[in-house]
Amino acid sequence: NRRVLLKSRPQGEPTLANFDIVDQPIPEPKDGEYLSRTIWMSLDPYMRGRMAEAKGYASNVNLGDAMVGGTVGQVVKSKNPRFKEGDYVVEYAGWQSYAVSTGDMSMKLDPDAAPLSTALSVLGMPGMTAWWGLMEIGKPKAGETVVVSAASGAVGSVVGQLAKLKGCRAVGIAGGKDKCDYVVNELGFDACVDYRAAGGNLFKELRAAAPKGIDIYFENVGGAVQAAVVPQLNDFARVPLCGLIAHYNEMQMSPGPDWRLLLIKRATVTGFIVSDHFGQMADFWKEVPAAVKAGKIKYREDIVKGIENAPEAFIGLLKGRNFGKLLVQVAED
Ligand code: NDP
Repeated sequence: NRRVLLKSRPQGEPTLANFDIVDQPIPEPKDGEYLSRTIWMSLDPYMRGRMAEAKGYASNVNLGDAMVGGTVGQVVKSKNPRFKEGDYVVEYAGWQSYAVSTGDMSMKLDPDAAPLSTALSVLGMPGMTAWWGLMEIGKPKAGETVVVSAASGAVGSVVGQLAKLKGCRAVGIAGGKDKCDYVVNELGFDACVDYRAAGGNLFKELRAAAPKGIDIYFENVGGAVQAAVVPQLNDFARVPLCGLIAHYNEMQMSPGPDWRLLLIKRATVTGFIVSDHFGQMADFWKEVPAAVKAGKIKYREDIVKGIENAPEAFIGLLKGRNFGKLLVQVAED
């Protein structure tokens, strides 16, 4: 059983030295448990918080334990009547090639309904995040302008496409020409600003892309991008505060937006954690899988092969090296 353990806590950016890769015996399921082999493993920005000393919104990984995370696996042995050998499940097995589970947090997957990997991307946690933040917090109305940062990524790509389906102008912000071209030409956003190339012109380029101001800012990054967006919010703008990835490696949080501006614009900023809402996703399931099947919502997966390559890929995720939802293929399905 190949496992990736947390060896030490990062000071700033994670490095390979923070991880340990070990081969251990495959565990045996006890009564009420099943054993699964991991096929797909999700790498997500929130995992940086789990590596930290400081307490986040969920408990941290202990030193010497396997890194946590969402996975798609196949049951290979079962002592739990709800799961039988051969079943595919989306579960929370973490960074390891085999895991035992009671199944309390596992959901069976129909491999014919959609590719298995989508249970970790567009039809999984990131897709639901986009849905909840945009639909429940942003409440888009046709004709409004929606701006989303990290626009080519797992969450941002779905936000902009949903905004288009709701009749909004969708403007992405992403790092690099390739990502911006993809966002406009493949995903159908109206415009995309390359914040890396824009440098000090970011405010102006964003103004040109969103000439009527910004009604909804779906915040994924913080930092300089946020500073350019906030003064361009319209009155009564909504800001679903989803992520602040530009700050995750900081040892000390840098200052946030100018609250005076938020007051003057009567803006609503709402933080949310998608896992609070997993039970409230009826509308997501009604709309999104059909839209994906019909090609109205496109998705891109950035696939890294081999669990031993997960640390390097995760380090890259926090620097924008991924292009699309970052997944590790641990085994053939
Ligand atoms: P992505 O697939 O978008 O990958 C992360 C992207 O963030 C990178 O590709 C990069 O895009 C951008 N990025 C990385 N470092 C920086 C930086 N220093 N400054 C600016 N941008 C950076 O990841 P996800 O779609 O999975 O996640 C997007 C955001 O959503 C994250 O902040 C994440 O924490 C948050 N999130 C929140 C959830 C919630 O419940 N609140 C649930 C899921 C995700 P680029 O090259 O374009 O800069």
